[in-house]
Amino acid sequence: VKATNDEEAAARVTAVDADTGAPTIFDKIIAKEIPSSIVYEDDKVLAFRDISSQAPVHVLIIPKFRDGLTQLGKAEQRHGEVLGHLLYAAKLVAEKEGIVDGFRVVINSGPSACQSVYHLHLHVLGGRQMKWPPG
Ligand code: C5P
Repeated sequence: VKATNDEEAAARVTAVDADTGAPTIFDKIIAKEIPSSIVYEDDKVLAFRDISSQAPVHVLIIPKFRDGLTQLGKAEQRHGEVLGHLLYAAKLVAEKEGIVDGFRVVINSGPSACQSVYHLHLHVLGGRQMKWPPG
């Protein structure tokens, strides 16, 4: 996901102490207190369209039970099962969205990667030619 210089600067400044473990906006999306465009859901994960899409398909996949997993950089062995399930859900989402022949999965972990919401999430991007290297 390409961030502008302003976004990068804001992420660095606000994210220094942003990983407080406090509930995030994604908890409200899981509780359906905030509406979202749901693409896939099961008992462990929720997939919904990113409000600021960076590609024709841009879906976020999040664990329903965060269990301390605010960022990938804080993953522990016990998170292995849900991490695997998130990746498998990315494939299901890609199939559902018709992009299984070419898609990208991104996890921004921490301030240097411009993570802005401290509830682990996978970005599934596709529907256009992706470029490499990413920004
Ligand atoms: O990886 P990062 O933390 O930067 O990604 C957070 C993503 O969550 C952003 O792409 C942002 O557009 C998305 N978002 C959303 N709905 C919200 C808040 C953030 O889709 N209510």
